[in-house]
Amino acid sequence: MTTFGGVCLGLILLRVLTALGLERINQRHTREAARRGPASWAEVMDASTHARSVAYTLAKSGFHEAVMLYGGIVLIAVLFSGVLPWGCRQWAAALGSSNVSLGLFVVAVGLGLCVLNLPMAAYAQFGLEERFGFNTMTPRLWWADRLKGWALSAAIGYPLLLFILGTIAWAGPCWWLWAWGAVVAVQFVLWIVGPIWILPLFNKLTPLPDDDLRRTLLALADQAGFPARNVQVMDGSRRSRHSNAFFTGFGRGRKIVLYDTLLDQLNGRELQSVLAHELGHYHHRHLQKLFLAGAAGMLAGFGAVAWLIRQDWFYEAFGFEIGLPAIGLFLCALLQRTVSFWIAPVANWWSRRFEYQADAFAARLMGETGSMIAALRGLAAKNLSNLAPHPLYSRFHYSHPTLREREAALQSRGS
Ligand SMILES: [Zn+2]
Repeated sequence: MTTFGGVCLGLILLRVLTALGLERINQRHTREAARRGPASWAEVMDASTHARSVAYTLAKSGFHEAVMLYGGIVLIAVLFSGVLPWGCRQWAAALGSSNVSLGLFVVAVGLGLCVLNLPMAAYAQFGLEERFGFNTMTPRLWWADRLKGWALSAAIGYPLLLFILGTIAWAGPCWWLWAWGAVVAVQFVLWIVGPIWILPLFNKLTPLPDDDLRRTLLALADQAGFPARNVQVMDGSRRSRHSNAFFTGFGRGRKIVLYDTLLDQLNGRELQSVLAHELGHYHHRHLQKLFLAGAAGMLAGFGAVAWLIRQDWFYEAFGFEIGLPAIGLFLCALLQRTVSFWIAPVANWWSRRFEYQADAFAARLMGETGSMIAALRGLAAKNLSNLAPHPLYSRFHYSHPTLREREAALQSRGS
C-alpha cells in the first residue's frame, strides 16, 4: 500500500470508529437517563411510550452501528482489493476508454454499490420501522421508490458527469470552475423544479382540506407574506406513521408541506405553530443561505478534486496504473464522506441555529409559546424521539436542537 493509500485507509477507519464510539456513548447515556426515573420525561410521554422510545433509540443505534461497519468494509474492499482497476480494465477492453464509456462504468459501479446497500435499506423499513409500528409501506412501493430514485440519479448524474469530463478536456486548468458552475446551476434548477416535478413523482400533494383549519392556517401564511396556495398536505402516511413538515424550493416552486400524519396528530393551535415555524424558515431565507453555503463549500471541494486528479500517486494508491479523469472523479466521490463526516457537525450547528430562529419567529407570530411547546412534545411522543441523547452525540449528528433545548429557548422568551 502507498503512503497516500495508508492515509486514506486510516481516515476511513477513524471515521467509522468515531461513529461507532458516538453510538456507544449515546446508548449508555440513554440507558442511564431512563433509569433516573420519570421526572425528565413524564410531561412528554407516559411510561409505556417512554419505554418504547428508549427501545427504539437503542434499536436504531444498533442498526446504525451495523450500517457503519458494513459500509466501511464495502468501501475498503472496493478501494483496496484491486477490484476497481480490474473491472475498469475489462470494461475499457470491451467498450473503450472514451469519456462516454468510462462515465457508464462509473454509473454501473455506483448502481452496484446501491444494490449492495439494499439489504440494509430493506431491513430499516421492514424490520426496524415495522417493529415499532411506523412502517406503512408495501414492498411494491418500496421498490418503486428505489427504481425511480436510481433512474432520476442516472438521468441527471450521467449527463452532468459527461459535461464535467468534457470541461477537463477543453477548459484547461480552470475546468473545475466550469464544472462547479454546472453543478451549482443544476442544483439551482432542481431546487426550483424539484417541488413541482420531482416531489409529485413520489408523493401526492393536495391543498389543505377546506374547513376552519384551512382558513386559520392560510391566514397565518398570509400574515407572514407567504403565498397561500403553496401550503400543501402530503400523503406521508403511505410510507410511514412518522410525522413532519418542511419548507422547500425557491421562487415559484417554494412550498410548505405538512404531512397528513401531522394533521391527525396535532390540534389546531399546535398545527398553526408548526406552520408558523416553517414560515420562520421562509422569513429568514434559510434555504437561500444553506444553498449559498453549500455552493461555497463545493467550490473548495472542486478545487481539491482538481488538484488530486492530476497526481499520479492518487491513482497508484488505489491500484490504477494510469490516471483517467473519470476514475479520479469517482474515487473522490467514494472518499467524499471521509471528509464530509467532519464537516457535518459544523453544518448541523448552523442548522440548529436556524431552527431556534424559526421557533422564535413562530412564537412572535403566534403571540405565545405554549402551543409550539405542546406541538413539539406531541411530535416527540408520536415519533418516539430520544429525549436524552448524549450532548456530544446530538452536537455531532442532530440538525435540530433536542426537545429540551427548544423548550428552554422558547420558555426563555417568557410568555
Ligand atoms: Zn425547522
